[in-house]
Amino acid sequence: MFQNLTDRLSRVVKTMRGQARLTEENTAEMLREVRLALLEADVALPVVKELITKIKEKALGEEVIGSLSPGQALVGVVQKELTAIMGDPTAGKLNLAAQPPAIILMAGLQGAGKTTSVGKLAKWLKDTQKKKVLTVSCDVYRPAAIAQLQMVSEQAGADFFPSTESQKPSEIARDALDWARRHYHDVLIVDTAGRLGIDEAMMQEIQSLHQLLNPVETLFVVDAMLGQDAVNTAKAFNDTLPLTGVVLTKLDGDARGGAALSVQQITGVPIKFAGVAEKLDGLEPFDAERMASRILG
Ligand code: GDP
Repeated sequence: MFQNLTDRLSRVVKTMRGQARLTEENTAEMLREVRLALLEADVALPVVKELITKIKEKALGEEVIGSLSPGQALVGVVQKELTAIMGDPTAGKLNLAAQPPAIILMAGLQGAGKTTSVGKLAKWLKDTQKKKVLTVSCDVYRPAAIAQLQMVSEQAGADFFPSTESQKPSEIARDALDWARRHYHDVLIVDTAGRLGIDEAMMQEIQSLHQLLNPVETLFVVDAMLGQDAVNTAKAFNDTLPLTGVVLTKLDGDARGGAALSVQQITGVPIKFAGVAEKLDGLEPFDAERMASRILG
């Protein structure tokens, strides 16, 4: 079990009893605990370093030094900095400002939770944004993936555009777009093939789908449990595809959420949604403050 940051700091504060002020020395000890807690929460090293520099500046400034309980004040500073780093103005917000249908292209590795997230997103768009949604699968390599999308779309109450494994992904995408236009759908969500690892053929395929569809949102779906690997995969996708947002799934598991912070900081791509349950209503617009509290533990 890892120790959460609040516990770590209260231990340090206890050893400081009798020292009314924060000194260079006891601040260093506190920052060491902050650093360990962030690393244990899966925050990437370069991001931890940057955070520590910022936190140190603030900690040695008025905010913490002058405080009656420096430990608590330091937790507050850390929380504020974590929130700021994830608080991109477009985090948690979906851009649907396009001539309908607004197209959302979903990318990610197999097992990340892509197809489930399409269903969740369709339900969220339908229930909370009152949108008419069409879904389509361009995963011609796994017929089960097409059937799975059909099932979740039906459960979500969204329309589903059928496809088969004998078709080309580009052909499917073009037909679905045409159908969405003719049937006045507000949003078209396009599920794509996910591989076990990143390979060139997969990247080329999704790149050409991107060129063909010109989506208003290109969302990268990634499993929060992957920790540091989530950051590496996000980087690889973002190098070939102009990602507009991240859907971080499986946050109901053990993941501490440090991956969220690192993905956003390293790729510069905002996190738009968090998957918090397997079921279709388990999707929430990303909230930086809530995630900061989670990382702090
Ligand atoms: P895909 O291969 O990327 O399309 O992944 P799937 O959508 O098939 O999801 C893989 C597995 O992860 C399935 O068993 C999903 O039920 C599960 N899953 C997806 N999102 C979440 C989530 O937010 N929380 C949990 N607990 N499970 C999820």
